[in-house]
Amino acid sequence: MGTLSPDETVVLVAIVIAVAVGAVIAIRDWLANPFKYPYMVIEVDVSGRRTPDSKDVIDRVISKPRMWERIVEHERKVSAWKTRCAETIEASGRITERRKRQYAEVLDDEKGYRFVCRRTQTRYKQVNYKRSSYQVRVKEKELAADYEWLVRRHARLSEIGFEATLREYTMKDQRRLMTPALRRQIMERDNYTCQICGKRMRDGVGLQIDHIIPVAKGGRTVPSNLQVLCSKCNGSKGDSM
Ligand SMILES: [Zn+2]
Repeated sequence: MGTLSPDETVVLVAIVIAVAVGAVIAIRDWLANPFKYPYMVIEVDVSGRRTPDSKDVIDRVISKPRMWERIVEHERKVSAWKTRCAETIEASGRITERRKRQYAEVLDDEKGYRFVCRRTQTRYKQVNYKRSSYQVRVKEKELAADYEWLVRRHARLSEIGFEATLREYTMKDQRRLMTPALRRQIMERDNYTCQICGKRMRDGVGLQIDHIIPVAKGGRTVPSNLQVLCSKCNGSKGDSM
């Protein structure tokens, strides 16, 4: 057994490198997570709405028949993905436990549906004393929901004929509950007196029934959430009815 010739040395070194690289790739693949959750990303244009309520945004999106079809279709893809993952785990032999952990890491049903809200903004630039405008799309917020929640919401929207968002519908409902009899009951309870400044009808102010927690913020038309206010105090409070 003699020493290696320079040519033989090059070949040997090349083989060692190739084996080492192969091993590194194999280890990396073994370490890497083969699973990637199939999110559905829905772009929502919220231009022209000041501060859109998150649930309103989602209600409007899922009220569109085409969009709802796409969501249902996507959920089928998620199911198929889960089946494939189960097969991969099944076939992973000695690293089954590792694959199971990796699958659990990416599983994200609760945030599977993402609503990316963007608005168009007008900006200005000045070049050589000339002012010109241009539009940019700005990401405002991102909402996330899970499929089951969307299904329940869609069913409730369907019950009201997709007439409004659920929040808007509740507001209308609460307004309908304000009957003349309830109005009279609150007036009597509060002694026909503004509950902020104490003025009465004979002081020359108009009296109104006010929702302490506004309907728009989820306040209900029940005696505990109602009070008598004069028009001036009510006006300064904002939400009147
Ligand atoms: Zn008052």
